[in-house]
Amino acid sequence: MSNMTSDARPEGLDAVSAYIKQNEESFLARLMDYVRHPSISAQNKGIREVCQLLVTMLDRLGMEAEAIETTGHPMVLGRRGDDPDRPTVLFYGHYDVQPPEPYEEWVSPPFEPTIRDGRIYARGVGDNKGQHFAQLLALESWLAVHGDLPCNVIFLLEGEEEVGSPHIAEFVKTHRDRLKADLVVTSDGPLHISGRPIIVFGVRGMVSFDLEVRTASRDTHSGNFGGVMPNAIWTLVHLLATMKTADGRITIDGLHDAIVSPTKAELAAVANLPDSVDDVMQDLSLSRLDAPADRPFADRLMFHPTLTINGLHGGYGGPGSKAVLPCEAIAKCDIRLVEAMTPEDVLDKVEKHVALHAPEVRVVRRAGMLPSKTQMDSPYAKALIAAVRDARGEDPLLYPALGGSLPDYVFTKILETPAFVVPYANADEANHAPNENLKIECFYSGIQVGAAMIARLGQMRVPRYGANA
Ligand SMILES: [Zn+2]
Repeated sequence: MSNMTSDARPEGLDAVSAYIKQNEESFLARLMDYVRHPSISAQNKGIREVCQLLVTMLDRLGMEAEAIETTGHPMVLGRRGDDPDRPTVLFYGHYDVQPPEPYEEWVSPPFEPTIRDGRIYARGVGDNKGQHFAQLLALESWLAVHGDLPCNVIFLLEGEEEVGSPHIAEFVKTHRDRLKADLVVTSDGPLHISGRPIIVFGVRGMVSFDLEVRTASRDTHSGNFGGVMPNAIWTLVHLLATMKTADGRITIDGLHDAIVSPTKAELAAVANLPDSVDDVMQDLSLSRLDAPADRPFADRLMFHPTLTINGLHGGYGGPGSKAVLPCEAIAKCDIRLVEAMTPEDVLDKVEKHVALHAPEVRVVRRAGMLPSKTQMDSPYAKALIAAVRDARGEDPLLYPALGGSLPDYVFTKILETPAFVVPYANADEANHAPNENLKIECFYSGIQVGAAMIARLGQMRVPRYGANA
């Protein structure tokens, strides 16, 4: 078994790369056709049609392809290659898109793809159709030039990512045997703001909860009952003050117990990232960063949990004043989780804390998502880094984690497979917003990176995951 990643350009890649160049225009035309089809999961518009379209596309690539029902929208699953001596890569993407509203803010209609200034404007072109379509075209190009792929490939395209992936965990558990892979690669999200490529190894998890309190049967006069009736908002404010200090320490007992400290490799990767503090401060007109003041910028987003009050509601907020003593208050909160915190354990600890400090407050448990982490010294990471270098002539920035949350845990924790995000879109892709766009050059370089990834993976000789099982 050899996991070495040589510096030599993989055999066969140059010919594929040239083929991609020769076919750029027709690839672009086909992407325009693809994004013309709406597939809005939140409104159940066009989902079945696009799902079928994808099955046909995968089928034409010689894949065993099918749409698999879930209790929500179907998954598209395709597979090609069964060589036990080569790695199996699972490409994950999603074919659903965000609702396009408000229509009036689109310069050109969301489902009439239009090219302006080197960008394609259409809903879903960046998030995520243009990115998984680039992946498909990379495979198509390999097949056109060489007749076969350098490694085994599984495609998994979800139809519910934009509504929070409610069924993917169940799907992955049910179809575990068909998803056995050595690594998972997701191409979604943006490149670095500078245009530099990135590879992401993990994400923070999250969990939401409400704190609700009722101190009396009705609101009252703040004079007639002030000093007698407890104020529901003060009750929550005092409780919240016991959960986090002004200098930025979360003081929920035991909350930090499960946390796995960052590895040396992760700290080294973070030290290599460009410093974006000034950009962020300028963008948001910040005069300071959140406490603690001395925490390095990337550490804040990658290696620490947060406790966020999303909203605090109660009493009167209208014009003028109203001398009311409110009997009800609610705080909506979320906690971002780092490895190896879990939503259940965190909620248990929140409940314990609340029971101790403000037993009259009720905790309403809401949805959560586990964090995910892939080791930075994974041999597959070396192959992906080399692939990005092959295709783009520059090294990717390596992100141990994203501050936000994606359901990568279904791969790393349920399938126990290393998972990487290798984004292709421009940083200003305006996904989820009007005028979503993808730079044409990003689409083309995405196809090139896709081809280089399977080439680099094909150089590795490792026992297939399935062969180990
Ligand atoms: Zn999205």
